[in-house]
Amino acid sequence: MRDGQGWDATHDVIVVGSGAGAMTGALVAAGDGLDTVVLERTALLGGTSAYSGAACWLPGTQVQERAGLGDSTEAADAYLRALTGDTEAERRDAFLRHAPDLVARLEDDPAVEFEWRAFPDYVAAPGRMDAGRSFVPLDLAPELLGDLLPLVRPVIDRDRAGRGHRAGAPLTAGRALIGRLLLAATRTGNARVRTEHHVTGLVTEDGRVTGVEARTPDGTVRIRAGRGVLLAAGGFEGDDALRAEHRVPGSAAWSMAPRGTNTGELLRAVVEAGAATGLMDEAWWCPGTELPDGSAAFTLGLRGGLIVDGSGRRFANESLPYDRMGRAIAAVVGASAPTYLIFDSREGGALPAITVPSTDPAEHLAAGTWVRATRCRSLPLSSAYRQKR
Ligand SMILES: Cc1cc2nc3c(=O)[nH]c(=O)nc-3n(C[C@H](O)[C@H](O)[C@H](O)COP(=O)(O)OP(=O)(O)OC[C@H]3O[C@@H](n4cnc5c(N)ncnc54)[C@H](O)[C@@H]3O)c2cc1C
Repeated sequence: MRDGQGWDATHDVIVVGSGAGAMTGALVAAGDGLDTVVLERTALLGGTSAYSGAACWLPGTQVQERAGLGDSTEAADAYLRALTGDTEAERRDAFLRHAPDLVARLEDDPAVEFEWRAFPDYVAAPGRMDAGRSFVPLDLAPELLGDLLPLVRPVIDRDRAGRGHRAGAPLTAGRALIGRLLLAATRTGNARVRTEHHVTGLVTEDGRVTGVEARTPDGTVRIRAGRGVLLAAGGFEGDDALRAEHRVPGSAAWSMAPRGTNTGELLRAVVEAGAATGLMDEAWWCPGTELPDGSAAFTLGLRGGLIVDGSGRRFANESLPYDRMGRAIAAVVGASAPTYLIFDSREGGALPAITVPSTDPAEHLAAGTWVRATRCRSLPLSSAYRQKR
């Protein structure tokens, strides 16, 4: 029932989306005593964050201190400056300044616990930590989540197959992160989650955003925010038109977000409301393997093989950190031209790489997304050289 001003519900804070950033925002707001609601478009919480490894690059915190790493905000500052120069300096400084307090605050809640995991910082630059400074959430026993368990998006292989969590198995990586944040937020007694609430637009009054409009299975609702609206609903990787507008190569079908999500309608809404945007053609890139159904698998940790463009030309070192290799691929692929990975049978016909979701060689061969040559003719070097010239 709408009130006199046309609102179906009122909260202090509305959080749109339910990835790691959204759930962290919800926990912090609810922990401050604010009546907080999380609105998630799908039936499940966690978005791409639930599929992820959940390695958090938040430097200079108590987690690195516990691990005895000797990390510091100053060292991380030097590293980021070396990599990014003056780009977004204000945001970089805020990120570095607040990371230690944020992590301390999250870990104040017994539901949230992290441990350092060795992921070397990728680039040789001042401030680099050879063993890395990333940390991950501890695995989470499913019984701790109780009734909330079916709300957490499962690991990608099971999710894409329409299956839930494996019975009794601990939640790991991104599922543990989302599960832990959800547990902590709801335990404050100030946060609730609403799934199948697809936010389609912002409500503004006198130039201020005062609420949102959302599509639900029971029709459209208008929800008011007394204190603020936090938009943390992913990017626009699932929308071909926005990708084209911002010169993001590839196709929405290759997005790693849960199917049909992260389509950028909120980006359009904030731009319409007068918000500034930045770095729209930037992303955290990763090589992808095309799957038989036309979607993609996140592909990293190549142990062999060569990646070539459509003319057979090798264009980068396949051992680059995956974001760098992803960038190199993005620079050559254009709108639809794929690159190709050529690998041998050393691993019994399996891809010499990690893929998320996993890849099944037999399915690929049957679908024609992989082609196998049973014989390979090697040319003497001088002949290969002549050919090249
Ligand atoms: C396999 C894999 C491993 C990764 N590992 C790591 C890692 O270890 N460390 C790391 O830092 N990064 C990692 N990443 C990247 C990381 O997962 C993403 O950058 C991050 O999850 C993005 O978070 P987000 O909150 O912006 O979006 P998402 O997590 O995708 O969340 C967006 C949510 O908003 C919802 N939504 C969208 N539109 C609306 C709307 N209009 N109304 C309501 N809800 C909406 C979506 O349904 C979704 O649930 C990995 C990615 C992949 C694919």
